[in-house]
Amino acid sequence: MLGPVLLAAARSDGIRRFVSSTPVTRPVVNRFVAGERLGACMESVRSLTGRGLDVTLDHLGEDTTVRAEALRNRDAYLALAEALAGEGLGARAELSVKLSAFGQVLPDGGHDIALANVRPVVEAAAEAGTTVTLDMEDHTTVDSTLAILAELRKSFPQTGAVLQSYLFRTEDDCRDLAGEGSRVRLVKGAYDEPASVAHRDKAEVDRAYVRCLKILLSGKGYPMVGTHDPRMVAITQELARRLGRKHDEFEFQMLYGIRESEQSRLAAEGHRMRVYVPYGTDWYGYFMRRLAERPANLGFFLRSLATRG
Ligand SMILES: Cc1cc2nc3c(=O)[nH]c(=O)nc-3n(C[C@H](O)[C@H](O)[C@H](O)COP(=O)(O)OP(=O)(O)OC[C@H]3O[C@@H](n4cnc5c(N)ncnc54)[C@H](O)[C@@H]3O)c2cc1C
Repeated sequence: MLGPVLLAAARSDGIRRFVSSTPVTRPVVNRFVAGERLGACMESVRSLTGRGLDVTLDHLGEDTTVRAEALRNRDAYLALAEALAGEGLGARAELSVKLSAFGQVLPDGGHDIALANVRPVVEAAAEAGTTVTLDMEDHTTVDSTLAILAELRKSFPQTGAVLQSYLFRTEDDCRDLAGEGSRVRLVKGAYDEPASVAHRDKAEVDRAYVRCLKILLSGKGYPMVGTHDPRMVAITQELARRLGRKHDEFEFQMLYGIRESEQSRLAAEGHRMRVYVPYGTDWYGYFMRRLAERPANLGFFLRSLATRG
């Protein structure tokens, strides 16, 4: 019930201003976000990779409606790729981008603007010895995002996609993207989607997730299993064993600050475990989606508001 309300709040400017300017939200936000500046982000990268975890870095930002801001977001990723190259961390750290931060939703030619802005980031990532994964946003952006993926993969076939099991279309998309060299992060999906395009029932989303897992793990690509759900982790391990996939032929991914002991456990078992590390000042939308996913996170947030001062 609360999920859709919080997801609607994630897109409200008024609530954004209130929550972003309330100092007591900081400690809660810090649980999910690795800091506001590149320096703080790089500190997390060193710490996580030092513990045997890989990372994917997200410079926070989305739904950009001003062209200059899309360029600033591009430049933030170029600086990030340069920092990774400088520290020789390309083999351990990749980049996750939201195309809406690169101009995808701009009214005139957003698709082409996003492609033009993301291309130099993909090139810089390749020079730094790493890759870029295109995060998936709400369902209205999926066709455009997959078309940009196809375009980028012509020169950089290692560019990754994200598919969301809650969308009815996703099993077909998994089949299309299960080929040689393709990298796909499978997630359940974090946006409030209408019943006309997506499963709304949690059990249905889970069942769809397992069907998609089967397609990706039996394919020839590199599946990236993005979930904190212990059932999905166990099913992945069992399917990989049955299908003869070795530990380095797929990976698990979890979000920064969520189920950290499970992240360490999977890495210690010899799995490749990648942590999604968001950083930057524009944390509001990301933070609200994390609250919407889990009532316990919301409780933690509300308690900190109630005890302020
Ligand atoms: C690396 C990564 C990248 C993502 N990228 C995208 C993207 O590009 N687009 C998109 O739409 N979504 C993305 N998501 C979010 C995703 O779609 C889900 O909203 C989110 O992962 C919650 O689903 P879940 O599979 O983790 O488990 P849920 O269905 O939320 O939870 C299932 C079970 O997992 C366990 N669990 C979940 N959270 C916690 C916790 N905090 N502590 C302890 N146990 C917990 C509990 O047992 C819970 O019952 C991403 C998620 C990850 C991990």
